[in-house]
Amino acid sequence: MNYLTVDLYKDFECVADACPNTCCAGWQIGIDPIAYQKMVDNQERLGVPAKEWISENDGAYVAKLDENGRCPMLDEKNLCKIVLKLGPEYLCTTCMGYPRTLRIFGNVTEGWLNMSCPEVIARLMKKPQVKFDLTNDDRPASPFPHTALYLFASSVRTCIVDLLQYPADVSLVTKLFACFDILSKAAASFKNKRTDFGLFQEEIGQYFHEETLLTLDNCLMQGISEGSRYQFLLHVQPSLDERSGRFRELVCQVREYFANNHADTFAGQIRKFKEHTAKYRDFYINYWVYHIFMDAMVIPDYDKVLERFIYTAAEFCMIQTIALVSFVNNGILDKEEYIYIISNMSRMMEHSHLFRKELTKRLDNFHAASAAGVLMMIF
Ligand code: SF4
Repeated sequence: MNYLTVDLYKDFECVADACPNTCCAGWQIGIDPIAYQKMVDNQERLGVPAKEWISENDGAYVAKLDENGRCPMLDEKNLCKIVLKLGPEYLCTTCMGYPRTLRIFGNVTEGWLNMSCPEVIARLMKKPQVKFDLTNDDRPASPFPHTALYLFASSVRTCIVDLLQYPADVSLVTKLFACFDILSKAAASFKNKRTDFGLFQEEIGQYFHEETLLTLDNCLMQGISEGSRYQFLLHVQPSLDERSGRFRELVCQVREYFANNHADTFAGQIRKFKEHTAKYRDFYINYWVYHIFMDAMVIPDYDKVLERFIYTAAEFCMIQTIALVSFVNNGILDKEEYIYIISNMSRMMEHSHLFRKELTKRLDNFHAASAAGVLMMIF
């Protein structure tokens, strides 16, 4: 078996009680049957009967969260009582694995870390550039019927990552506009049953010349008006099924902001916000490289790859809008606050079906699943 993972994967360590937004609260925690049985067998050592803190429905087990949405095994210092009293080997697979995610494509297992974990974001903010690790072992692979598509999709993804990390002095929106075009061409190629990457590479070669990117950047920068971006943001933000009190407050502040500020004020403030956040330029590239690594392998339904890209653009857009309002209200965008916003928005996107449904509706109404939508969403 071959293993392709983002380079933070192997060294990641949970910061436990130092975490500013613990993953042991605010969402459902599923417990596998083996871990459940271990909790029954060791309930005396743990000091609490399994039935008291785990509910069972049709063979599926979940932790009964307390009135603050916290896992009952989380103590007042935000440490896990299972780890403290029994040891980490007693954790269920959800808690043992998080924030790691693995996907198997035949003889390749890919691994990444979810950005709903604030420590992942903090590490991405410190990294000049995301890299990847390729290793292997003797484990046999299971049969996989989509090897040709996997090879095509992973080559397209490598091109996109190269483009994002290409050292040309162009804006993020220009690079993402080009990425969207490459993915559109890849999806069309797949639809026409052409998955020969050699031929495809000729179609997209133009993007790997600094001059082309600079010209495109110039055109796009002249074409984007903050007035139309204001209208776009005003209508496309879905109402959030806010899970925590403080995140709810931040979202309410966005509504207030759009109710009280006109497009002209917005244009001035967004300019200052961009100057203030210029220091996150490398992080933005890392953020997108991470997402492309996770989202560009829609196998076997590769025709949905653009939909995934648009979701990521919408997620980024909502993060930036909340961050902009926080910046306007406080005169600064605190790094811890930024991490908090990003991790909560990732949690919404990962876990709220209703939120995704409403977002899809709004994006459709605004014809945002397009290159023009990408231009409006990235700032
Ligand atoms: S969110 Fe990340 S750092 Fe925080 S408790 Fe969970 S795994 Fe640890």
